[in-house]
Amino acid sequence: MSVTLHVDGERWRTHLRSVADAHPGLTPVVKGNGYGFTAGRLARRADWLGVDTIAVGTYDELEHVESRFGGDLLVLTPWRPSVRELDPALARRVVHTVSRPEDLPALLERHPDARYVLELLTSMRRHGMSAAELRALAPSVRRTPLQGVAVHLPLAGGSHLGEVERLLDDVVGAELPGAPATTLWVSHLTGGELDTLRARWPELTVRPRIGTDLWLGDRGALRVSATVLDVHRLHRGEVFGYRGRTAPREGHLVIVSGGTAHGIGLESPQGQLGLRDRAAVVARGGMEALGLTRSPFWIGGKQRLFAEPPHMQASMLFLPADSTPPAVGDLVDVRCRFTATAFDRVEFS
Ligand SMILES: *Cc1c(COP(=O)(O)O)cnc(C)c1O
Repeated sequence: MSVTLHVDGERWRTHLRSVADAHPGLTPVVKGNGYGFTAGRLARRADWLGVDTIAVGTYDELEHVESRFGGDLLVLTPWRPSVRELDPALARRVVHTVSRPEDLPALLERHPDARYVLELLTSMRRHGMSAAELRALAPSVRRTPLQGVAVHLPLAGGSHLGEVERLLDDVVGAELPGAPATTLWVSHLTGGELDTLRARWPELTVRPRIGTDLWLGDRGALRVSATVLDVHRLHRGEVFGYRGRTAPREGHLVIVSGGTAHGIGLESPQGQLGLRDRAAVVARGGMEALGLTRSPFWIGGKQRLFAEPPHMQASMLFLPADSTPPAVGDLVDVRCRFTATAFDRVEFS
């Protein structure tokens, strides 16, 4: 009755182990919905992997992982004065991200022993300090609580190794304590780029922060299913659904588990298609031409259309008459974004 993430446990764990072996200093990222697995489950898995630090996205996420992982907890969202006071036992395990010069004295006033990383602004332009800000801040930075520098790189645009090295030059130029023997917390570099970086900067400790390629890197170990809850024969012109639509042609209504509460929403093929593509859809006489939109549910090897927008926990799909409808209780495949889906269950085999 649910939207279920099925995990081939052995295959998944083998993949996790191989990523950890290939990336010394790995810092698993455990944020949001835990890439579909839940953050708590990933925290336990990270403990099993034997890493010393995991990264959470926000301060609010700490409570989901703190009892399930024994090591340090890096918070990726930069500290701001509005962050609530942390319990002392938890505060000792937290590594803060400081991305604005004025936040460092404010953080240290609140937590004098706070450990932190300094985030540098990259071509992402999300958070971080410029070279000038870093230079200005450096004299007030002491070596011990500083856990290194952090850079977050875009996914697109080819290699960002050059950018990272320019930022490292800034770190050296700012005379940050210990530099270049510092720690670099970095995302989205390839294995080869990380190796190059280590070879060129032998005093540097590189800590790759990895989420997607770790937890979701072996898609073959993962499958998502929904359950067929009902099937109704539908005659042309018959009325169905919340909106009193009429059936555009003969077929079946297939009601499956999974709706807006799971993060299943409308994808608009119209929105993505150019005029020419739309004309092609109309020419094929596809159901999309009748205004139905694609769903993430696959039945009989085909991506099916929503008969109407998804409901909170169920969706109504339209199956044309020439397709064999599934039986109530059958599982159908769902192709969804793991980071945007709230699964009812995660089942390991
Ligand atoms: C989300 C995030 C990561 C991990 O990104 P993936 O693409 O899931 O590996 C790393 N660093 C920061 C700052 C992030 O926000």
